[in-house]
Amino acid sequence: MITTTVDTILNRALAGEDLSLEEGIVLLLQTEPEAITEIQETANQLRHRQASDLVTYVINRNINFTNICEQHCSFCAFRRDAGADGAYWLEWGQILEKAADAVHRGATEICMQGGLHPEAKINGASLPYYLQLVKTIKKDFPELHLHAFSPQEVQFIAQQDGLSYAQVIEALQAAGVGSMPGTAAEILDDEVRRVLCPEKTNTATWLEIVGTAHQLGMPTTSTMLSGHIETPQQQMGHLEKLRSLQKTACDRGYSSSITEFILLPFVGQEAPKPLRSRVGRDQPILSDALLLTAVARIFLGNWIPNHQPSWVKLGLECATEALIWGCNDLGGTLMEEHITTMAGAIGGTCMEVETLQNAISSVGRPYQQRDTLYQLIIDN
Ligand code: SF4
Repeated sequence: MITTTVDTILNRALAGEDLSLEEGIVLLLQTEPEAITEIQETANQLRHRQASDLVTYVINRNINFTNICEQHCSFCAFRRDAGADGAYWLEWGQILEKAADAVHRGATEICMQGGLHPEAKINGASLPYYLQLVKTIKKDFPELHLHAFSPQEVQFIAQQDGLSYAQVIEALQAAGVGSMPGTAAEILDDEVRRVLCPEKTNTATWLEIVGTAHQLGMPTTSTMLSGHIETPQQQMGHLEKLRSLQKTACDRGYSSSITEFILLPFVGQEAPKPLRSRVGRDQPILSDALLLTAVARIFLGNWIPNHQPSWVKLGLECATEALIWGCNDLGGTLMEEHITTMAGAIGGTCMEVETLQNAISSVGRPYQQRDTLYQLIIDN
């Protein structure tokens, strides 16, 4: 039986109004199949209105230049200490080879992130090393969009070199970084962050760095790591902070803002034992991820129209289903995904364009390649 409250909330959303945090929590707490179907249908309707029926994808490649990291996030199966088994740090030539291969395979984007490696320096400074990463790719492939360096990496560089966040972002931008991944957000709640990533930026700093990027004309994405120790209240608090950040960018007339929202359900299979045991499961609960996908569309869609599921975390079948729960994008080909795959994800490390296209067609929707900033690429 659908409660009047759920009906009222969904009708408000369909009337174009922004839901309150409390209304979002009510939706997330629904367990009756009938109510969940109403939420899914509302999200699907809003997706159609806010982002059309077209489903987009991007041809991109991940380059994770090192997994050596000074931090110890409790969910991370990717990091290694220097010299440990499985630790790696790519040479400049290897980075260039990967970029060349990506271009050969039609990529328009390189997504570049890495561990926080204190020895990744040139002349004793961190920023020149990161600038060299950018220049190594942009020199030979100026047309490639570099979607690079999370707010956490920006903070790391700033701390290493005694610079402001704005100085770091401006320098990266001038070297050729086109946008910032909205990763390292996990859950924007300091209570959760103390367990998940105690050494990372706190909530306020993450928001400050992303807000600074927007102010400086650098677009960002936004993400949420869900399905671990967080509560529905904390999930909605996270979405509320993203919405508020986006409203600020719009209200202040910044030329850049958040381009998309990506839900990243927690994969625990190879994660460090304490968190894995506490969460008590290895793979995401798909029904939870789909409900959260729908609520994110309903809550954020007026402000962030592009929503993407993670086929790496969910598997392609569930990511395809997410297209009828509010998503309008199926993400990227990635070509090599390490971070989540090392955590035990079953979605795979690479996706062929045709596979993404067939998945989109299977739900009766048209598809189109896009670039990082959601401009459609009509002719290759
Ligand atoms: S999530 Fe990032 S910052 Fe945290 S330990 Fe892993 S590589 Fe390091």
